[in-house]
Amino acid sequence: MSMLVTAAEAARREIGSAFSGQLIGPEDAEYGDARSVYNGMIDRRPALIARCTGPEEVARMVAFARKRELLLAVRGGGHNGAGLGTCDEGVVIDLSPLNEVRVDPDARTVRVGGGCTWGEVDRATNEHGLATPSGIISTTGVGGLTLGGGLGHLTRKYGLAIDNLLEADLVLAGGERVRVSADEHPDLYWAIRGGGGNFGVVTSFLFRLHEVDTVIGGPTFWPVELGAEVLSVYREFLPNAPRELNGFFAFHTVPPAPPFPGEIHLRKVCGIVWCYLGGEEDAAKAMAPLLDALPEPLLHGVHAMPHPALQSAFDGLYPPGDQWYWRADFVKEVPDVAAELHAKFGAEMPTMKSTMHLYPVDGAAHDVSPSDTAWSYRDARWGAVYAGVDPDRANVDIIRRWSIDYFEALHPYSAGGAYVNMMMDEGQERVRASYRDNYDRLARIKATYDPYNLFRVNQNIEPKT
Ligand SMILES: Cc1cc2nc3c(=O)[nH]c(=O)nc-3n(C[C@H](O)[C@H](O)[C@H](O)COP(=O)(O)OP(=O)(O)OC[C@H]3O[C@@H](n4cnc5c(N)ncnc54)[C@H](O)[C@@H]3O)c2cc1C
Repeated sequence: MSMLVTAAEAARREIGSAFSGQLIGPEDAEYGDARSVYNGMIDRRPALIARCTGPEEVARMVAFARKRELLLAVRGGGHNGAGLGTCDEGVVIDLSPLNEVRVDPDARTVRVGGGCTWGEVDRATNEHGLATPSGIISTTGVGGLTLGGGLGHLTRKYGLAIDNLLEADLVLAGGERVRVSADEHPDLYWAIRGGGGNFGVVTSFLFRLHEVDTVIGGPTFWPVELGAEVLSVYREFLPNAPRELNGFFAFHTVPPAPPFPGEIHLRKVCGIVWCYLGGEEDAAKAMAPLLDALPEPLLHGVHAMPHPALQSAFDGLYPPGDQWYWRADFVKEVPDVAAELHAKFGAEMPTMKSTMHLYPVDGAAHDVSPSDTAWSYRDARWGAVYAGVDPDRANVDIIRRWSIDYFEALHPYSAGGAYVNMMMDEGQERVRASYRDNYDRLARIKATYDPYNLFRVNQNIEPKT
């Protein structure tokens, strides 16, 4: 490409009128907004952002990047902590116009565009009293969350997001369009369920739906000083609780705003964020063994709410643009010494938004074996994430330091690998450790479908012939 022609200009000339989406380059007024992603710490400047409106346009942009040997990033919801939905200098395929959601209440399925956020999906399915497992924040992209696995409020009852993925439509590195399912391209269907965006651009997902309408949800908080005690009771309680009850352990600082009572504003707390599928009385019964074993909490804010309300309960606290630095690990057990270390780091959270979550990986997530999908850690009990968060760039160093120190202190008590969706850019060995025995099979499938590693802005699986 001539040095005098920008990538955006070259794309306009080559693809021009056949493209009904937007081609945005640094010379365009929208560029500033278009290049920003959820994590304010990520400041990348792509040469071209292509907002594609359909699979044909995605295929054209894949070919454009491949022919010109430009780095190619694919953006779903733009939420990735490591900023893997964008890149410097290359092409970003921005899927945000692909946001159609079609619910089939009779078949109990939902077809979802590759650029949807979970909020869009949850609202549409809730109109029919249905839902599919996702995460805990509604602004997260369906694309990245699903392809990496998908841990959330419905995991214990209905499994990971990938356990409910029936079909996906992909554009491959060579530009071909394929549908993958248990019957079509089963190798790819296996690989995309956990293998991230390594194998192609997913333009459409088909998920199974379940009867989930009103849920019993919200937090129970104790003073952070009780961190080790609450965690010790929780670690015994949760694996034996009914699958209808999901509860992730958390350290937080109570936000200084309603609905939280004024007397606990800005107080550091530990606790559990619940989601029960059923009635209020049954929820209380299911939580009772834990609540009875612990002192009176500061807050037990659990009540009936529509599923999308629980899914968006954290949205206000965590808007786009904050600085995020996080580390993660899978955990099989929490010995006393680890519980004490958690309590120490919980008490030392450096900013109001910094947090630690232990997401349950059990119940229905354990019904699938480690080799049934690419997502290997079916024998973990929790996915731990240590997230330093703050709106102020000046605090980047302190949030990064806390997350890394916390991770390094607890890593010896982990299962070894991490949930790829909650890793930063931590290198090839860490990616391999997270896929364990599935890595070599993934590398062979990668060699078949993307031998030149066109899709490498991700937790990368290198092709192995
Ligand atoms: C505030 C917050 C809360 C979160 N909560 C949860 C949670 O509860 N549960 C959970 O499991 N995870 C959670 N995550 C992690 C989340 O799953 C990852 O950050 C995920 O990568 C986000 O997906 P995205 O599409 O928004 O990201 P993007 O940055 O757009 O993309 C991330 C990666 O996925 C690829 N990708 C995205 N869409 C497609 C597609 N359609 N086709 C091919 N590749 C694609 C991209 O190329 C990139 O490599 C959370 C993240 C944040 C920031």
